Amino acid sequence: MHDTLTIKGSRKLDIEKVRKDFPILETTVYGYPLVYLDNAATTQKPLAVLKAMDDYYTTINSNVHRGVHALSQQATDAFELSRKKIAEFVGARHSYEIIFTKGTTESINLVAASFGRKFLKEGDSILVSGMEHHSNIVPWQMICEEKNATLKVIPVNEQGELVLDGLDKLLQSGVKLVAFNYVSNALGSINPVKEIIAAAHKYGIPVLLDAAQAVQHMEIDVAELDVDFLAFSSHKIYGPTGFGVLYGKEYWLNQLPPYQGGGEMIKTVSFEKTTYNDLPYKFEAGTPDMAGAIGLAAALDYLQGLGFPAIREAESELMAYATDVLQQIEGLRFYGNVANRAGVLSFLVGNIHPFDMGEILDKQGIAVRTGHHCAQPIMDQYCIPGTVRASLSFYNTPGEMDRLAAGIRKAVVLLS
Ligand code: PMP
Repeated sequence: MHDTLTIKGSRKLDIEKVRKDFPILETTVYGYPLVYLDNAATTQKPLAVLKAMDDYYTTINSNVHRGVHALSQQATDAFELSRKKIAEFVGARHSYEIIFTKGTTESINLVAASFGRKFLKEGDSILVSGMEHHSNIVPWQMICEEKNATLKVIPVNEQGELVLDGLDKLLQSGVKLVAFNYVSNALGSINPVKEIIAAAHKYGIPVLLDAAQAVQHMEIDVAELDVDFLAFSSHKIYGPTGFGVLYGKEYWLNQLPPYQGGGEMIKTVSFEKTTYNDLPYKFEAGTPDMAGAIGLAAALDYLQGLGFPAIREAESELMAYATDVLQQIEGLRFYGNVANRAGVLSFLVGNIHPFDMGEILDKQGIAVRTGHHCAQPIMDQYCIPGTVRASLSFYNTPGEMDRLAAGIRKAVVLLS
């Protein structure tokens, strides 16, 4: 018997069994068993995802929506079934509120370009937070520049929490949209999303939530959050790369003009006038990534098979263990030192440069990320060039955390 029932009734994950679903975890690097702690950059893919994509290409590959032939219809059915599953996964009321994109970055660019074009004017502003990924800063900066609008920032304190004291005042200073992350990829902080959404809605301001680092760790219900837009990437939730999702409330998606022009997003085209397609196709110009949608749906099926309560429990136990073993290392300090953290441990040791630490860990088969994590403003605030970031998944083990701690100690000896 592998599975055991916990008191709460949720099945505890059998990690050794789960790891067999991810063949890459069995590989070695420089002769050491791989310790993969770069899950915030991208997660590994279970066999179920690879098989679903392989099955798609080997049995029903065909372009969707436009074909009368059998294969095209089967591909369309599989593609639209994936959209339905993804809609259910995030709690969207309608499948057509799910727009397929290349990833979080494209989802945010879509809203920035489209919302900005229609609703931003000179003197307006967009509000982001001080701990955003560049992909939730630069698209807004670009549209603000075009419209002579300004980008405003919710401050972050020393521990890595958003400072909300001045939020009400900020919201009343010409803000047309608020965009911030649910979980910071640089610090791991889980932000008080409900509070911020409710505050913005008090003034009728829509909110875009960057959930790139949240969907893989916790259940999300867009209806309960009452969020207007939500973006995430398939590759960070055990699905394929190059595919992602934008959820938008029907009301807002209908307000926004199309992002890109081309096939699929039109109803009729003449040289005099083009009419646009209905949701979601209005925002999906060109041939979509069918295998991507099917792969992501397979990833969600896989995760639901494991059960989110069990995933959460495994990850929070592992986070607690990792925090404990790392903080015993002399000179190690965390960035993002908050109780409410998910998946990410960002740290520096003494005055060791994060790249040097990363290289020495790599030579021991331990994959971590080093640098500014595409979040330069928060690194600048802490006056550091970057951090070492170990990011965890349910498939990591306490033994791997011990290897990380031993690897750091070895680096300290070598670099001191
Ligand atoms: N936002 C956050 C919080 C992220 O962690 C990332 C990826 N590191 C992105 C946005 C961008 O995601 P992608 O590169 O998949 O578009």
